[in-house]
Amino acid sequence: MIYADYHMHTPLCGHATGSPEEYVQQGIKVGLKEIGFSDHAPMVHQRMPGITMDFDELPAYQRMIEDVQKRFQAQINIKVALEADFIPGFEAKTKEMIASYPYDYIIGSVHFIDDWAFDDPSVREYWKKHDVNEVYRKYYALLKKSAQSGLFDIIGHCDLPKKFGARPSVDLTEEIRSTAKVFKNCGVAVEINTAGLRKPVAEMYPAPNCLKIYREAGVPLTFGSDAHDPVDVGKDFDKATALATSAGYTECLIFKQRKVERKIKI
Ligand code: ZN
Ligand code: FE
Ligand code: FE
Ligand code: ZN
Repeated sequence: MIYADYHMHTPLCGHATGSPEEYVQQGIKVGLKEIGFSDHAPMVHQRMPGITMDFDELPAYQRMIEDVQKRFQAQINIKVALEADFIPGFEAKTKEMIASYPYDYIIGSVHFIDDWAFDDPSVREYWKKHDVNEVYRKYYALLKKSAQSGLFDIIGHCDLPKKFGARPSVDLTEEIRSTAKVFKNCGVAVEINTAGLRKPVAEMYPAPNCLKIYREAGVPLTFGSDAHDPVDVGKDFDKATALATSAGYTECLIFKQRKVERKIKI
């Protein structure tokens, strides 16, 4: 069993269910030693109710997580984090938001390409209007920019465009290699995110060949279930461990207040 699950949500984002306490209880039940809440941070360019928290919900988020930290400290370590979108041109505002509380780590995620939430099931038909190879190329360009922004500690689900099954028809290995180099140089980690198994693609993020490229480049690793429901905390972490090991990883990172606290053998 993996030590920590670093990616889970709360109802504050508007599309997750279950109280933080239930996520914690499930974490304890499945044998995790540590969990980190990483709910969707407010969008810095527009309000997005139902998709992310709002700015005025950040204090409640902090209080909610501090409450379970105290109540469950004898049983499990609990970290408080955010999953923040990378919105080009709004780096300063993002930086300010991230600095408003002593978060343990920030997951930087790309969910938007040119204002299209390409992983949102409600606008899934937009895939038909897009060139899949072009979407992937733009996606990797945004991943590089997210890492280079210096805003984030971990890059989330780093091949998300495959969620509904759209695959590039060209070989993007070089694109992924150059992305991995940028990640390494910028000091960000990648996550194995097991939520992909529960999506049409039925595969963890990132794919085995991608993960191997990140490992070869020396990019460190975290694990996340991306649970939006307490039952998914720590879900499929046996498969995640096998994926990490087959890619050559031997350890994962534990964060505290935006610094690597220690490394855990996997
Ligand atoms: Zn979500
Ligand atoms: Fe995400
Ligand atoms: Fe998430
Ligand atoms: Zn996510």
